[in-house]
Amino acid sequence: MSQKILVTGGTGFIGSHTCVELQAAGYQVVILDSLYNSQKSVLDAIASISGQRSEFIQGDIRDAALLQQVFKQYQFQAVMHFAGLKAVGESVAQPLNYYDNNVAGTVTLLQAMQVADVRTFIFSSSATVYGDPQTLPIPEDHPCSATNPYGHTKLVVEEILANLYASETNWRIARLRYFNPVGAHPSGLIGEAPQGTPNNLMPYVAQVASGQRQQVSVFGNDYDTPDGTGVRDYIHVMDLAQGHVAALRYCLANEPELLTVNLGTGRGYSVLEMIEAFSRSSGKPVAYQIAPRRPGDIASCWADTRLAETKLNWRADKDIQEMCDDAWRWEGRQSN
Ligand code: NAD
Ligand code: UDP
Repeated sequence: MSQKILVTGGTGFIGSHTCVELQAAGYQVVILDSLYNSQKSVLDAIASISGQRSEFIQGDIRDAALLQQVFKQYQFQAVMHFAGLKAVGESVAQPLNYYDNNVAGTVTLLQAMQVADVRTFIFSSSATVYGDPQTLPIPEDHPCSATNPYGHTKLVVEEILANLYASETNWRIARLRYFNPVGAHPSGLIGEAPQGTPNNLMPYVAQVASGQRQQVSVFGNDYDTPDGTGVRDYIHVMDLAQGHVAALRYCLANEPELLTVNLGTGRGYSVLEMIEAFSRSSGKPVAYQIAPRRPGDIASCWADTRLAETKLNWRADKDIQEMCDDAWRWEGRQSN
């Protein structure tokens, strides 16, 4: 019997790619998603890639009664928790909604796990918890801070998980701090599908390349970086998905632990380098204009990846060209 994993937010961007990799690794996947920011058709796409249909429950992680029923119905080995809200600007405008979904929702989920005695939990955290980095690359023991409600929700959940582990040391918990996930599955069948105007660089660039938008605004060219534009550690979403499988394997094979790991490549690229790489993938120049800095942005951010390599035996191996090629293939399917 293969092991069953509950994936909250499994029809979303990172969750869907992780479901594909979980199935490829022999796990059975049960997805719980409210479809607030994703489409049911993603289930068909996952099935056509993997040849296996995931079980799907449409529901909200804040629904304690539903969770109780789900944990009664299935025997899960672990929970991978992607469900949540992720737009920084929206979190400033609607902080209560963000605390409710990301913090209260996670507490409800953890309570249901506790009752069902399922104690392996993989959490989607973010490099945003490092605030404005004091050192590069950023190691996991770098001080944490947050400048917006979204970042605070990630910090608060990280803290809740530390408190939980301190009180009950039989939990296996991984707090995975993602850097900048981009790209799509190489089939072009699943990818990132932002609603409305994309907030993030790469989906915006993709929409300019496909003609849906006129030009990218480059937020600042006066940072202390080689070309003056912001530098980030972009990681292919398939590498990230494999990082989750590695973390799950680690947790299931080892003694209970509270693990905190960066998932990044360890290399930074500037906004202009990413635009140039995308132009190569799409075969068209991507128009841009230099715009003022975006409030709250930092100059540079990239991961110290040594812990992921030594603990999880995982490292990202896809380069920015592959990220852009795959994002472009996905974009082509979207805009047709
Ligand atoms: P996404 O919006 O594509 O996926 C999240 C999924 O969760 C969606 O399918 C949505 O419908 C679902 N969802 C939201 N609230 C829910 C609720 N209350 N109950 C049930 N389902 C709910 O986002 P993503 O990019 O795949 O991000 C996944 C996780 O990774 C999030 O927790 C996010 O904060 C974190 N993260 C993302 C990034 C990034 O750049 N994409 C970076 C760092 C961390
Ligand atoms: N960025 C940009 N134009 C955009 C969106 C983003 O110049 O339309 C820059 C942003 O200032 C940062 C980088 O691209 O330097 C990555 O931003 P994104 O929002 O994708 O991720 P973040 O690192 O902020 O989470």
